[in-house]
Amino acid sequence: MTTLVYDLPLPDLTSLLESWGQPAYRARQVWQGLYQHLYAEPGQFTNLPQTLRTRLEQELRFAALTPLARLQSRDRKTVKTLLGLDDGRQIEAVLMRYQKRNTLCISTQVGCAMGCVFCATGQMGFTRHLSSGEIVAQVLHYARLLRSEGQNVTNVVVMGMGEPFHNYDNTLAAIDLLNDPQGYNFGARRFTISTVGLVPGIRRFTEEKRQVNLAISLHAADDELRSSMLPVDKRYPIAALLSACRDYVAATGRRITFEWALVREVNDTPEQARRLTELLKGLLCHVNVIPLNPTPGYSGQATTAERVQAFRELLERGGIPCTVRLRRGIEIQAGCGQLAVKSLKNQKDPI
Ligand code: SAH
Ligand code: SF4
Repeated sequence: MTTLVYDLPLPDLTSLLESWGQPAYRARQVWQGLYQHLYAEPGQFTNLPQTLRTRLEQELRFAALTPLARLQSRDRKTVKTLLGLDDGRQIEAVLMRYQKRNTLCISTQVGCAMGCVFCATGQMGFTRHLSSGEIVAQVLHYARLLRSEGQNVTNVVVMGMGEPFHNYDNTLAAIDLLNDPQGYNFGARRFTISTVGLVPGIRRFTEEKRQVNLAISLHAADDELRSSMLPVDKRYPIAALLSACRDYVAATGRRITFEWALVREVNDTPEQARRLTELLKGLLCHVNVIPLNPTPGYSGQATTAERVQAFRELLERGGIPCTVRLRRGIEIQAGCGQLAVKSLKNQKDPI
């Protein structure tokens, strides 16, 4: 299959065009067309000679993702798009428009190998990694949509389908590409990567001293409970995970976010809140709690509003900052990380 143009960083694009006998400035023009003007096909590059446009068309692929269906929440603030890949697989990417922000939630894999029991993506199993270009293309899809309304993407959370640190190289290559000041110029601080807790990935990320925000899916404060919810805990138990998190904060001075999906009578108890407070004491961090979004393959239920507040108060009393996240766009299953492709198929709205 021909190379996807978004898989090429600028130096690779430059060498390719040089191999076609093009001067170096042509690659920069293509780069600007792709990432500043957001052109989606060679025909739009009217500043290029026709012969080059034809060559681009013949040798590179510009369409990475085909929108197959779009679901909108009733208040129209959340949009989820089912996107078809070239091999017929499907992923989802979500746009959330709240408080003057246009936040995207993007996917890094088709399915996920981590098998977290409450997660719709985990229940699907793993199919394949996305290439860096397929990750980039999700951002471009919404960037074009927003630009047509005079708006921009303001934040990107890597919290869609898949485990980003299982696909480390492609995920970070996508972020680096979008970060390029000569191209899309999207600041590293406006990205957040969420990981289930792959310790080697966290350590590598720490060494690279990136400005990208880091979130850890913790969900339980002891290994017995955590490994029953997140199988990865058997490989990287809480002590190893927290040690990597402490080293990250020490090395970067950056605050870490911990995510906690509250499951009624499972991890929403005062005992779990107390243990969590102990675990996080003294660490520069923040906890996001969100009531579980129930999924077909898991019997756990969402916590009640009272229990959410009680949990939050216990953490705050213990000195741990905590925010309750709303389940935005819940009626379109747009909670990141539980993007149920299977259920979406049954309610597909052609666009
Ligand atoms: N694989 C990464 C990123 C994708 S999941 C990770 O696990 O962190 C993004 C977030 O959604 C994670 O915190 C995940 O635990 C959470 N999540 C998954 N399924 C959920 C559900 N059914 N209800 C609430 N949160 C869920
Ligand atoms: Fe994968 Fe994250 Fe879902 Fe776990 S919660 S199965 S790591 S996508």
